[in-house]
Amino acid sequence: MSVIQSINLDFLGQSALNQAYQLDLYRGDLEHAKAPGNKWHKLRHHLKAAEQQNARYIGTLGGPYSNHLHALAASLVNRNEQAILLVRGELQANLTATLRDAVAYGAELWPSQRLDFRLGLDAQVVKQISHLYPDIYWVPEGGGGVLGAQGCADWAKAIGTMAGEYSAWAVAAGTGSTAAGLLSSEACPKLEVFSALKGMAEQQAEIITLAANIAGKQITSKNLVKRLSFYDDAHQGGYAKFPAALADFLKAFAEANPNLVLDPVYTSKVIFAIWHKMKNGTWPHAKTLVIHTGGIQGWRGYSLSQNPF
Ligand SMILES: *Cc1c(COP(=O)(O)O)cnc(C)c1O
Repeated sequence: MSVIQSINLDFLGQSALNQAYQLDLYRGDLEHAKAPGNKWHKLRHHLKAAEQQNARYIGTLGGPYSNHLHALAASLVNRNEQAILLVRGELQANLTATLRDAVAYGAELWPSQRLDFRLGLDAQVVKQISHLYPDIYWVPEGGGGVLGAQGCADWAKAIGTMAGEYSAWAVAAGTGSTAAGLLSSEACPKLEVFSALKGMAEQQAEIITLAANIAGKQITSKNLVKRLSFYDDAHQGGYAKFPAALADFLKAFAEANPNLVLDPVYTSKVIFAIWHKMKNGTWPHAKTLVIHTGGIQGWRGYSLSQNPF
């Protein structure tokens, strides 16, 4: 098995697509079992910075099904720092599977008020926790920002070495820092980015700004703009929304690709959107590499009947 596998597009009566397009999947979901997909790469430089500051705690924020919270808690097993996880909203007596794992990995959980949580690292409760734990290092929500993107620039280099020639890579965006990191690297050809959230039209400019911030001087902003395509209409109704059309698509996808597993929130929507464009004849690339960003643990927030994998 290779870390790059071909996607069989011969399903839902679309056998012509297999001849017209090559769509491959970089199996990021198989990397770094504790923090698969993009999360290990986004956390790497943060963990180093925490270590340099002799932090005893690493705090971050996220929702009750968050891949980011799960990844941070898992990454701190056998390290000196403890994870302090600020969870969006009240903590239910019945924790989600994601948070149960986090507790088992040794993380401490804090509830939040939604309005306060929205302030991110400026939230009141973040200040309060910092008073209780003065030697805490905070990772912004989603592990984003410059350090997160830098880890993904390193990742692009590694993927580029393995991947060979493609006319484009494709990836999902939450905060957009993974996309920015990939785009900032010369290893990345054109980059097709699909937002998993609704109302993200402005994210395209943010990705360019962050990529320009970490790219070497040899890459101009003009070059970044030229290499990026951004779609704000592939979210299927919103973040983590799972309409019947997507469920039907994934069922057919899973039957035709028994060796691949997609997550419900990010990469599945990327492939669904690309498939639509291929069907309409509007996908501009003959040979595309989709970067699988992981997130398989997130299926535990869905009913068993929704998961075809
Ligand atoms: C966190 C996450 C993303 C989004 O990454 P960003 O850097 O925030 O854009 C994409 N896919 C999966 C599976 C994730 O868990």
